[in-house]
Amino acid sequence: MARAPMLTGSRRLLARVRDVMAVGAADEAPQERLDRIVSIIATDMVAEVCSLYILRAGEILELFAATGLKPSAVHNTRLRIGEGLIGTIAAGARALALPEAQSHPSFAYRPETGEEIFNSLMGVPILRGGRVLGVVAVQNRTRRNYTDEEVETLETVAMVLAELIAGGQLVSRDEMQAVDGITLQPITVEGVRLNGGLAIGEAVLHNPRVAITTLVAENPETEHGRLEKAVADLHGAIDEMLEQSDVADGEHREILMAYRMFAEDAGWLARISEAIDTGLTAEAAVEKVDSDTRARFRNLRDPYLRERLHDFEDLANRLLQHLTGTTQVGPTEDLPDDMILVARNMGPAQLLDYDRERLRGLVLEEGSATTHVAIVARALDIPVVGRATGVLDAVVAGDQVIIDGDSAEVHIRPSEDIHHAYVETLADRTQQMEVYAALRDVPAETRDGMAVSLNINAGLFADLQSLIDTGADGIGLYRTEIPFMESTQFPDVDRQAALYERIFEFSDGKPVVFRTLDIGGDKNLPYWSGAAEENPAMGWRAIRVSLDQPVLIRHQFRALIRAAAGRDLTIMFPMIAEVTEFDAAKALLERELERAAQRSRPLPATLRVGTMLEVPALAFQLPALLKKVDFISVGSNDLFQFLFASDRGSPRLADRYDPLSPGGLAFLRHLVEQCNSANVPLSLCGEIAGRPLDAMALIGIGVRSLSMMPSAIGPIKTMIRSLHLESLERYLVSLQDLSDHSIRQRLRDFALDHGVII
Ligand code: PEP
Ligand code: MG
Repeated sequence: MARAPMLTGSRRLLARVRDVMAVGAADEAPQERLDRIVSIIATDMVAEVCSLYILRAGEILELFAATGLKPSAVHNTRLRIGEGLIGTIAAGARALALPEAQSHPSFAYRPETGEEIFNSLMGVPILRGGRVLGVVAVQNRTRRNYTDEEVETLETVAMVLAELIAGGQLVSRDEMQAVDGITLQPITVEGVRLNGGLAIGEAVLHNPRVAITTLVAENPETEHGRLEKAVADLHGAIDEMLEQSDVADGEHREILMAYRMFAEDAGWLARISEAIDTGLTAEAAVEKVDSDTRARFRNLRDPYLRERLHDFEDLANRLLQHLTGTTQVGPTEDLPDDMILVARNMGPAQLLDYDRERLRGLVLEEGSATTHVAIVARALDIPVVGRATGVLDAVVAGDQVIIDGDSAEVHIRPSEDIHHAYVETLADRTQQMEVYAALRDVPAETRDGMAVSLNINAGLFADLQSLIDTGADGIGLYRTEIPFMESTQFPDVDRQAALYERIFEFSDGKPVVFRTLDIGGDKNLPYWSGAAEENPAMGWRAIRVSLDQPVLIRHQFRALIRAAAGRDLTIMFPMIAEVTEFDAAKALLERELERAAQRSRPLPATLRVGTMLEVPALAFQLPALLKKVDFISVGSNDLFQFLFASDRGSPRLADRYDPLSPGGLAFLRHLVEQCNSANVPLSLCGEIAGRPLDAMALIGIGVRSLSMMPSAIGPIKTMIRSLHLESLERYLVSLQDLSDHSIRQRLRDFALDHGVII
């Protein structure tokens, strides 16, 4: 570990501050200690003034102690966050060192302090857990250039002061948490859906902070030794987690591996080491680096960087546990049986520390769809609402909380009416789930005997369990880009092959359609992104990327061939716009098959190669295409956005055009008829396949294979089993020549009149 030179000035000052905070001085009132500390700082830093402001409720910074200013100003001078230089330091959570303070644009003169005679100012935020608790500043009459080393010394002292303030004797803890009178009222907080579902339970606040009792070190060498040992223990613990965790499979394993990589980050460890050199104990040094990082990057917008920052916070906390010998999560007996975990954010490993049997749902103040913890939560099948701004201020441990993952709402201390309504919904859902579960092994067949193949769309490892639970016929769309998104680098052939092999094993002979990488557009990978494009959905994505950079798809083919050894392999390509693209992709696949054969590797037992049909142009090349493909899978999400020139992600356009329109259905009917006459199987795997009314129409025009999100299998099978196909077919023919915007309502009426459950 690289070590900074000893900062003796800092250590001397820290030792003095420590003496004031030491056990012998415990009888002294906190205010007196504060007064002594500011005077020690002023003397040690050769400054005429040292002042200390503490943040009170209402975002007001109050002057709590000062030496060198008019004593009457103490407890009387108050500044808002952002007001004056002190308010600016608090607002930005950053130090300021100004030789000419009065010429700074934020300078605000407060006559009651008598500070007009001082020219220079150096101030630093007092941070704890990434939150600003106050500001400590020194001032000099003469023009003075404060050095970086002096700034660092004051920051280290601020760290010690943070503990004194957090003790709660100077201002009550309630004020620090900025809790206001509304906490006991029912509140609904809206966020974003990270995982659907419904849960009712008791709030458990995820409070991973480890209390630090000793801040100032006797001997830096001892602290370096303690740090090194704790880092080694941390590595050992992560390795153990990797070996033991039953969720540490597939992409989750990747996440834990990435986590281990962060634990070895040289920059992070070096900064902690430097903080030890300023005189802090190892745990105080970890806390300081963590707090600085959180405060500086709290406004970070980039979701990827925010998640990485969070991984560091998670690690800092684990390191603190190893240093202090404490664990963060209370014993299982203390946690309620139905817990709703509420956190600012958390790492994947922290979530896995909780008892899964008791965990009902998760609410995060931050978090995004790409957050690793959300992916793990999906594997655990619990609802998650992210970006629930203000939830931590509103919720108190033990509160009743309802998470509605589908509408991304969190109800805290819900009113009786709301609670009652959700209890009923939950009971209905549970009952409905049981009904769907009972359908698991019954055929998806219409009342007049037409069988429809129902398959699931998958990408996460947890989806595979759904293949068993739903009784689906197979995986109609395996989106291979999803595991790529969960990785921290391009997975190599070995890693991909291992993943695909597990999918084969899990699917136990049921067919799996592997779609080659559909990256680009808005599906960027953390470690790869194409150039910014005006129209990314129509840009350099999917097969276009794979054909331009064939090594990607060749490695993917190699891994698929290796994993499929002796089994049936089905591959399809995304975003094919013309037959030559299909030919080119298939030629690359054939090269890989030859390569495997030359090396006497076991080959797939059978091979089927097809294409997605999601670019309208391909529909006009069917006579040529259908001679070459083994199957077609209609990607209606993309197909309809291109057909209607209507962005699939735009909320304003969401209801503008309807696939259930004479034009939309005529297009699909054309595809079905062409495939039927060429004897090429057709399936449809866009979102509409999972919506009962839409699926009814699809079956009505001749689609016989659908692939959908796993939770839709039950409702779709229920619809199919209540449908009399022949009457629907006749009705649909009668609607063909209408000029309506949509025939949705007519189909809904048909379903109602004919007892079709939609
Ligand atoms: C589609 O476009 O309908 C499809 C299934 O592909 P994706 O949603 O992954 O683009
Ligand atoms: Mg698509």
